[in-house]
Amino acid sequence: MSAEMTALTGLTPVGHLFKTAPHIGMFDGDSTLQDVLEYFSHQAADAVIITEKAVSIGIVTLKDAVKALQKWENLMLPVRNFMTSPLHTFDALENISDVIEFIHEASFDKIVIREDDAIIGMMDRRDLLSLCYSKISPLLKHQYHLIHSLVDLVDDGEKRLLRMATTDALTGIGNRRMFEEVFQTHQKLSGRYGIELYLLMLDIDDFKCINDVYGHNVGDSVLKQLTTLVSSSIRTSDILVRWGGEEFAILLRSSDLQQAADVAEQLRQKIDEHPFDTIPHLTCSFGVTSIHPHENIESVFERADRALYRAKYDGKNTVRTETAPQ
Ligand code: GH3
Ligand code: MG
Ligand code: MG
Repeated sequence: MSAEMTALTGLTPVGHLFKTAPHIGMFDGDSTLQDVLEYFSHQAADAVIITEKAVSIGIVTLKDAVKALQKWENLMLPVRNFMTSPLHTFDALENISDVIEFIHEASFDKIVIREDDAIIGMMDRRDLLSLCYSKISPLLKHQYHLIHSLVDLVDDGEKRLLRMATTDALTGIGNRRMFEEVFQTHQKLSGRYGIELYLLMLDIDDFKCINDVYGHNVGDSVLKQLTTLVSSSIRTSDILVRWGGEEFAILLRSSDLQQAADVAEQLRQKIDEHPFDTIPHLTCSFGVTSIHPHENIESVFERADRALYRAKYDGKNTVRTETAPQ
């Protein structure tokens, strides 16, 4: 367990989230619009911070700058004339809960985090919540294991049964029941913070043949090797479970269905090229779908299953998607 996972709570200083934040462009209010345009032309940034006497007073976004260009504004004017987004600066030591509460109540679009005299981070509310979420998600998984290890300490037969009931005995990862629990928690978080969730179903192609040709023990070993390969290929915040038999489910965050399908495609290729110990070759088919914040798990799996069925029908070793109805 990393120190980061145990440390992150609502009381964690918000500066903790920005340790790896990219460099942020800062301009004095007297700088010209031309200076800022030049900066945008060289940096992959979508906003810069405007300061006055080293205090941040506003933001000029790339959109603001482009608008000014379209209006044939004088590029030599001070950039402070073109600030739009309201801005609030937080000290890095303020805690995450207070920051989130503030941006919920105020209608600030962007926030800036300052440590001593330096700006160490800038984000809009969505980025901030998504960042919290990606750090909280492994924490949830960790808590899941923590709860189960505590259960170990309590000599309670019923709780031991619950632990066994949520872990897949062969592969050691979670099973369908664990997925159902985690799905509920993620649905709540995604609904509240507008984070998009996707479901990826993976089914081994012609697994019955592997059992028939090489035996059931080899089949078991392939399931374990595949679990190791897939778990090491996804992000720590993605949740992998064995859904049943030779089917696995992955719950992941993504910006859109295409990006989720790209993740599936990369996994598909990785499996296709992987040298398994016990068999010459293995392929998998994938069904991918988006998840509505309030829909139930059954309808999500029905869609993913239909996409998976199409992948099989279209010749296997491929990825198919199905969009959730609006
Ligand atoms: P398709 O490409 O259409 O998915 O064909 P398939 O053979 O993979 O699928 P099918 O549903 O016909 O067969 C799945 C097989 O998976 C049959 C079952 O014996 C095997 N299986 C399920 N669970 C396990 C397990 O824990 N260990 C082993 N070795 N085999 C398993
Ligand atoms: Mg199957
Ligand atoms: Mg199969």
